[in-house]
Amino acid sequence: MDNCIFCKIIKGEVPADKIYEDDKFLAFLDITPVNLGHTLLIPKEHHKDLFEIPDDTLCEIGPVIKKIAIAVKEGTKADAINIGMNNGPVAGQVVFHAHIHIMPRFSNDGYKLWHGKDYDKNNSQKIAEEIRKLI
Ligand code: AMP
Ligand code: ZN
Repeated sequence: MDNCIFCKIIKGEVPADKIYEDDKFLAFLDITPVNLGHTLLIPKEHHKDLFEIPDDTLCEIGPVIKKIAIAVKEGTKADAINIGMNNGPVAGQVVFHAHIHIMPRFSNDGYKLWHGKDYDKNNSQKIAEEIRKLI
């Protein structure tokens, strides 16, 4: 994809602080980290988001996520790691080359996770069924 910033990083046309590379995947530091050491892991093939990544690539990316997460955690002396993926603009995706965020977390970093909502009575069963029947 000619206009994709992450494809340009893969091709070496845009600089990045690379962390890991093999024939299928590349990991590099996020340019605006939530905490220092925040890393992005991408498949080298251009796919827009999770829904477009082939299953065989997804099978292979799992161990790479783990490998990078261990290194980020130890390398930054983080207390914990968040793994995230934004799929679609409403979910906050701004770069449309699928990527996994590997984010070091520190006990004093001040971040909070999502607010929780409540289900109405019996609503959870209906929603679970709507999702279940599509799998
Ligand atoms: P998302 O909101 O999930 O699409 O995240 C895109 C991420 O890419 C953001 O966290 C950006 O800081 C990061 N980003 C954008 N351009 C670059 C770049 N040239 N090098 C490294 N990270 C980048
Ligand atoms: Zn791309």
